Amino acid sequence: MTTITRAELEVWDVKDPLAAHRQDYILPKGVIYLDGNSLGPLPVQTKERLRKTLEEEWGEGLIRSWNDADWVGAPTRVGDKVAELIGAEAGEVIVSDSTSVNLFKLAGSLLPSEGPRRKIICEKGNFPTDQYIVQSLKSLDNGVIIKELPREEILDAVDEETLALVLTHVHYKTGEIFDMEMFSRRTHEKGALVLWDLCHSAGAMPLALNTCNVDMAVGCGYKYLNGGPGAPAFSFIAKRHQAKRRQPIGGWFGHQDPFAFTETYEPAQNIKQHLVGTPGILGLAALESGVDLLLKLDMTKVRQKSLKLVGLFQELVGEFGNGFGLTALYPLPPEDCGNQTAFCHDSGYQIMRALIKKGVIGDFREPNIMRFGFGAPYTRYTDVWDAANILNAVLTTEEWKRPEFSQRHSVT
Ligand SMILES: *Cc1c(COP(=O)(O)O)cnc(C)c1O
Repeated sequence: MTTITRAELEVWDVKDPLAAHRQDYILPKGVIYLDGNSLGPLPVQTKERLRKTLEEEWGEGLIRSWNDADWVGAPTRVGDKVAELIGAEAGEVIVSDSTSVNLFKLAGSLLPSEGPRRKIICEKGNFPTDQYIVQSLKSLDNGVIIKELPREEILDAVDEETLALVLTHVHYKTGEIFDMEMFSRRTHEKGALVLWDLCHSAGAMPLALNTCNVDMAVGCGYKYLNGGPGAPAFSFIAKRHQAKRRQPIGGWFGHQDPFAFTETYEPAQNIKQHLVGTPGILGLAALESGVDLLLKLDMTKVRQKSLKLVGLFQELVGEFGNGFGLTALYPLPPEDCGNQTAFCHDSGYQIMRALIKKGVIGDFREPNIMRFGFGAPYTRYTDVWDAANILNAVLTTEEWKRPEFSQRHSVT
């Protein structure tokens, strides 16, 4: 039983080394935003950046801006910045397309499989798009064997027939973290490769892709990178793999020399091969602005604060949750999780809707999961205290039973 008071948490907020960064984000009054793991908030400076891109670069510069404003360099320029954030080198990351499409390109670059290595191993219960994309690799190579295994069986299944592991570093529901270094090493020992999905880790914690010898990775621009709804995603390919592999969607921007307009496709021998068509400049501009902000932060401090935020919420909700039938989805210590936590309740959807109505925004995942993410650069300890108390009030008053909260929205 915790004895922590709101007054003590006010002191934590004052002493918080990240406190000053909250003002860099637009957070509506009356809202406690615990869903930055689904859509990061709008950085203040992004408004000006988009105004400039729209009015000056597009409006005035028109097509000249491909050169003059370096639009053409944006996918690699922003990629290099993301590289810095995830422990990669310049020239190893490119920004383009969506996470789903990038996963297809990266995993597809390993096909058709040669010799006996035909098995791709994934975690059962991973984010559906990752599973769908891996399943659709069969359209490139019908001989590929897809194994979806529970987490604890994955390493034992890696053998001489394994081509690659496709894993999500932080699980979207449970928040569980894979040991990136250990999984990469043990996979390499068997001669297989590892491709990580960093959707819930990039921008949320320190990452060291090259120290962990990661082969390939993808990640999302609109979650912790705060690039805006549907922001372009990123792909990482370690330098050692870049020239050897060929991704399956050969478009003109992935050509060695797009403006030579040659008849046949000659793939670029570097990261640019992972472009397909014309990059979306508005999306890239917003993403660059979000990443620029993160580069000013010490990711170790971000992670430390997130652990405290998650731990505090778990503790506060733990005090009353059981009495209302609320159970922790995965009762792990915060160190083993990403910057999120989740609670289960049979009426989780209604409770989450009632919470959102009261300004506490988390989200709901089937079948009964209420998910809360903690963006350390802008979440205060007192926000966590208030959110837990509002949740307590919603449960105590049974407000969530109102019929309006039972109507399903198409996005949960
Ligand atoms: C958010 C998320 C995605 C999103 O993929 P999109 O192609 O951007 O829609 C993919 N995988 C994981 C694990 C995610 O959390």
